[in-house]
Amino acid sequence: MAEVVFQRLTLIGLGLIGSSVARAAKATGAVGEVVACDADAAVLARVAELGIADRVESDPATAVTGADCVMLCVPVGALAEVAAAIAPHLAQDAVLTDVGSTKVSVIRDVGPLVPAGVHFVPGHPLAGTEFSGPDAGFATLFEGRWTLLVPPPGTEAAAVDRMTALWRRFGSMTEIMEPAHHDRVLAIVSHLPHLLAFTICGTADDLADESRQEVLRFAASGFRDFTRIAASDPTMWRDVFLNNREALLEMLARFTEDAQAMARAIRWGDSAYIEDRVLRGRKIRRSLIDLKQA
Ligand code: NAP
Repeated sequence: MAEVVFQRLTLIGLGLIGSSVARAAKATGAVGEVVACDADAAVLARVAELGIADRVESDPATAVTGADCVMLCVPVGALAEVAAAIAPHLAQDAVLTDVGSTKVSVIRDVGPLVPAGVHFVPGHPLAGTEFSGPDAGFATLFEGRWTLLVPPPGTEAAAVDRMTALWRRFGSMTEIMEPAHHDRVLAIVSHLPHLLAFTICGTADDLADESRQEVLRFAASGFRDFTRIAASDPTMWRDVFLNNREALLEMLARFTEDAQAMARAIRWGDSAYIEDRVLRGRKIRRSLIDLKQA
């Protein structure tokens, strides 16, 4: 059996991602002990029932005491509050990490709260589903998926190496990325598609009652695929949008220009333009399948 990467991993927030990390940690043996902490007593009771952690703790200070790795798996907007509560109780040389979907805001809000002697290695597994809560998680969620690590300048290389080792044990591929670059990339590959999905479902819902019924009855794959994405957690996505404001608004502006260009092509019967755009979409889909990311 391979050695453990961390002796004790404390997870704060046991939703989809936190509970998947707990399961992966147990399944792979990458961690000696998993401690689970969540603000919601019902979530902790469920985690205990599922047996996916060695110990559950309702008090964050007690939960992080003695842990050599603390991973924050709460919505991005709650990270600073949690970090402030645990900071005085973190062990010397511990690694503090997170799984938040935005990184500039996390480094800005959490970075200054990290005590000297604690290594801060923010991260983001590019894996998830539209479901939330501890029942939604599964041990193989990260297999074959990317996890991006975004260490602030000056972070000790050994701490980054340990986080890399942990995610690789979970089956993830890892890459180190600069925070602003991370937020721009995620704005286009994840945040904008979610924005479009929420918006299109809202548009359909705003239609007169009769048309809305038709939308639901005859939802062909296009609309149906959007509704899957749009089923995601409202708190998580509110926080993502508000914490990646600049990059998301920039991508939305570019998208709006491109959508206008498509509208123009449709209005003037520019078949070549329309075909070219559809073909580009098809090529991107094929590339994803080739890269096993579809
Ligand atoms: P989730 O299923 O909604 O779970 C979040 C958990 O954190 C809930 O149990 C929540 O309790 C708890 N929580 C909220 N505020 C807390 C606090 N102040 N202290 C302790 N616990 C608190 O969310 P998730 O999908 O796992 O997302 C967690 C993080 O992963 C987010 O930062 C998100 O951006 C990131 N992420 C998500 C995905 C995805 O696809 N879902 C992918 C990659 C990264 P309540 O239920 O009581 O609020």
